[in-house]
Amino acid sequence: MGGNPLHSGERMHRVVELTNYIHGAWRRPEGTQWLDVHNPATAEVLARVPLSSAADVDRAAQSAQAAVAGWRRTPPAERIQPLFKMKAILEDNFEALARQITLENGKTLGEARGEMRRAIENVEVACGIPTMMQSEFSEDIAPGIDEYMIRQPVGVCAIIAPFNFPGMIPFWFLPYALACGNTVIVKPSERCPITMVRVAELLEGIGLPPGVFNLVHGGPEAVNALLDHPIVRAISFVGSTPVARHIYSRGSASGKRVQAQGGAKNPVILLPDADVEMTTRIVADSVFGNAGQRCLAASLAVTVGEAREIFTESITAAAAERVVGDGLDDATTMGPVISPQSKQRISGLIQQGLDERGHLLLDGRSLVVPGYEQGNFLGPTILDGVPPQGVLATTEVFGPVLGMLHVETVDQAIALVNQASFGNMACLFTSSGAAARKFRYEAEAGNIGINIGVAAPMAFFPFSGWKDSFFGTLHGQARHAVEFFTQTKVVIERWPKEWTRKF
Ligand code: NAD
Repeated sequence: MGGNPLHSGERMHRVVELTNYIHGAWRRPEGTQWLDVHNPATAEVLARVPLSSAADVDRAAQSAQAAVAGWRRTPPAERIQPLFKMKAILEDNFEALARQITLENGKTLGEARGEMRRAIENVEVACGIPTMMQSEFSEDIAPGIDEYMIRQPVGVCAIIAPFNFPGMIPFWFLPYALACGNTVIVKPSERCPITMVRVAELLEGIGLPPGVFNLVHGGPEAVNALLDHPIVRAISFVGSTPVARHIYSRGSASGKRVQAQGGAKNPVILLPDADVEMTTRIVADSVFGNAGQRCLAASLAVTVGEAREIFTESITAAAAERVVGDGLDDATTMGPVISPQSKQRISGLIQQGLDERGHLLLDGRSLVVPGYEQGNFLGPTILDGVPPQGVLATTEVFGPVLGMLHVETVDQAIALVNQASFGNMACLFTSSGAAARKFRYEAEAGNIGINIGVAAPMAFFPFSGWKDSFFGTLHGQARHAVEFFTQTKVVIERWPKEWTRKF
């Protein structure tokens, strides 16, 4: 642990410089550029993060490659022993990790705890690898000939994460990659890198051989070096759609397997027969939870028929009740957005929505949180009557903003869902089983909610996403992850009857 300044006992009293974790040691990268990591609620500088160079990435790749052979030969039942320890150590440090997420990301402590819970659930599911990696066997495909398939690890895998779930998203991939016998390089978001540093410190104590788990900080240069590096065989990415597209094309061009989860614009459809109290609460939580910085945040509400009169006011009232402030404060129900640039971008999109004749029901742009004047705070904002082709109906805002629009029929609502370029999530609120079935069947999105506002798959389901929200074939989590992190080998064996007769 020696070289990692977060261990120096001076944490948070002075600005620490983060280092990479390569081959079981903390190493200062060669890259000469550094960025400040801010607390979005206070603008305090929490740490400085290095932007690793291609040479730094190469060092991590060589380390991971050197560890592949030994780790692969470790039987799956032994490989999961460190994962049990991983679960225990994450549980023991649960509150500290959640607090760290809130400090660098801004979300409330409750939201940070939810994030860490899902991270741990993925470790639990990956502990089933000895069963999940089992494969197929056919005896006598012809007389005396058997055929079977085995799953072998892919080799060195890279995980590239976004800022909005710094503790959870690497775990959609990491435990499965390790349990399947791969070695891993994690590249956290340069905007929220500290949580994974803390995780890496904890993982030092679980008995992984050096090089099996590596952590490299950085931005586009480090990412592109991972995409191009011949040693790296697989890329798992989560982030915005333009970058996901880039990752998919550049990674596959160099022959790697790639799973790239992108951005979203998630509609919720409200029918007049939906339960008013429950729907209002759940929709408001979906839109404004994590300050709207969630790839499964609802950001467009489509009211059908009389639902317009029922829900417009109630959702606006629920939104206005949000208590905006520092996520560490118990009273806070909505934290800041990640950066001043993000706040400015979101405000610009609200203005564009107004220019397109959206009608402002709630305006959070001028909100100031007393005592936190430097924070990146925005209040909940709702615009009604946004045009179906307009910016607030089609563009990912990634902030606490809801666009509302109205249609007359369920078919029109489903057509709106299906004309969108994104396909991460679509939700319907109703008490009609027939409407729910029709929606589930026809809506073109990979995660569907029926009376659910954030249809986030449990760790034992894949994190689906369609259209511009996903590039690849196999998603993160569960069996998809096991397939992604293994390559199949088919073996055909002939043992003629005359040869076996003598035994
Ligand atoms: P981002 O795309 O800006 O960054 C993601 C990662 O890509 C970071 O590690 C960053 O260093 C790297 N990166 C950024 N620009 C790059 C470039 N030009 N070349 C190479 N690498 C680059 O995303 P973000 O702002 O950190 O996260 C928010 C986005 O992530 C939103 O669009 C959100 O919808 C999406 N997201 C999607 C899911 C999902 O499951 N589909 C989950 C969470 C977040």
